[in-house]
Amino acid sequence: MSEQFDVIVIGAGPAGYVAAIRAAQLGLKTACIDAFTGKDGKPALGGTCLNVGCIPSKALLDSSRQFWNIAHNLPVHGISVGDAKVDMGTFIGRKDKIVKQFTGGIGQLFKANKVTPFFGTGKLLKGNSVEITGADGKKETISATNVILASGSVPIELPFAKFDGKAIVDNAGALDFAEVPKRLGVIGAGVIGLELGSVWRRMGAEVTIIEALPDFLSVADADIAKVAAREFAKQGLDIKLDAKLNKAEVKKDGVHLVYTNKDGEQKLVVDKLLVAVGRRAYTQNLLADDTGVKLDERGRILVDEHCHTGVDGVWAIGDAVRGPMLAHKGSEEGVAVAEWIAGKAGHVNYDTIPFVIYTEPEVAWAGKTEKELKDAGVPYKVGSFPFAAIGRAVAMNEAVGQVKMIAHAETDRILGVHMVGPGVSELIAECVVAMEFKGSSEDLARIVHAHPTLSEAVHEAALSVDKRAIHKG
Ligand code: FAD
Repeated sequence: MSEQFDVIVIGAGPAGYVAAIRAAQLGLKTACIDAFTGKDGKPALGGTCLNVGCIPSKALLDSSRQFWNIAHNLPVHGISVGDAKVDMGTFIGRKDKIVKQFTGGIGQLFKANKVTPFFGTGKLLKGNSVEITGADGKKETISATNVILASGSVPIELPFAKFDGKAIVDNAGALDFAEVPKRLGVIGAGVIGLELGSVWRRMGAEVTIIEALPDFLSVADADIAKVAAREFAKQGLDIKLDAKLNKAEVKKDGVHLVYTNKDGEQKLVVDKLLVAVGRRAYTQNLLADDTGVKLDERGRILVDEHCHTGVDGVWAIGDAVRGPMLAHKGSEEGVAVAEWIAGKAGHVNYDTIPFVIYTEPEVAWAGKTEKELKDAGVPYKVGSFPFAAIGRAVAMNEAVGQVKMIAHAETDRILGVHMVGPGVSELIAECVVAMEFKGSSEDLARIVHAHPTLSEAVHEAALSVDKRAIHKG
């Protein structure tokens, strides 16, 4: 007899581990299976996000920001400390320590909540059993009333620039360079390319980003993308738009790239190449042939609006299903599914998911862009406010960017908020709360904001929707 659970979760990334903890909190006997191994070859919970994604990238972004500030920010304050030097062992080691702290923390949370972890590859069998294959090849089968698939995603590989883990790398490789590359090529000016490109640019690498699309950051609001492009260019990120990589050949003196732009074929030699052209849902070895679980045209697990696969008791969440590939989106789906399984009212509002890019300046938004509203024929009004007029931002020497708020022209309901500037990864939360409560720009305009804070930019942008910002000429 296989061990019986109420819930089995396959995958312990931010979608899966959160689902497992919430299910256990609700009194369900829960198991969570994960196949990820850390740098030390040992099982490491937390998935992409904790091991090679959100957390390590933010650790290196912060270290590199400190390094960059020595030459580019401290002198403005009248402080000089000589030339900045980096000890790469400490630089990468600090990141690894943070990763270990958090991946280990998931194990402790599992223990505290009585989630049973299994280390190995889980395969869903017909009838909601799961076969687990351990690293040593040993197999065991467990069963449950409900199985949650949370197998996440992996980087997309280009056939003509295959990852070799040394010269041509994915996100994991670019978080682990032994030394600062002199010349770094990045394919893809998306979130990962921009964040990791920024890390190594700040550390002194010459960074060239090759992006196939003609518009920079086309997922963001155009006004915000324009400011971000200008600021990144000032930092020395060389972003080539409308440029398609054709070939990447590893030679003794570096990676030889051939790409095409409007001027024809171009060549570039770099020491390292990061390919960051997106991620795809990962479902390899996840499903036996007869489970009835279907994949969509992009290889994602097909689910309805309740993350249900249509097969009795089988659910799927996170990067493995439709929707933005974001940790917090997966986690919220995990909570909601656990609550639905327990007969409670789970809830995910896909319209108010915040998006953040942790560059310098940061970029953040929630809701609709101006273009989306224009295309949909929705009447709207716009308010915006620059950080240049925010006392706190000026005092910090980070007075760059703006907050742009879009509200319905008739009802004043906030439809989208778009920001580029200091601390906007935190400021967006206030706007998400307002949007979740179906708030209007008037609501935010009437709320007292502390002075002097960066949040005054949100307040003034809300006032500006009806042309009554105080500090705007
Ligand atoms: P994953 O985190 O990919 O976890 C899936 C887990 O399932 C993995 O551990 C995998 O080994 C395991 N697994 C797969 N198949 C099986 C199987 N058959 N059996 C057992 N285990 C299996 N998102 C943000 O919101 N904010 C950020 O700042 C951010 N930064 C990022 C930076 C980088 C460099 C990258 C690459 C991503 C970043 N993301 C960020 C995206 C974020 O990491 C993902 O959206 C998130 O990890 C998805 O969570 P998940 O649980 O769905 O999948």
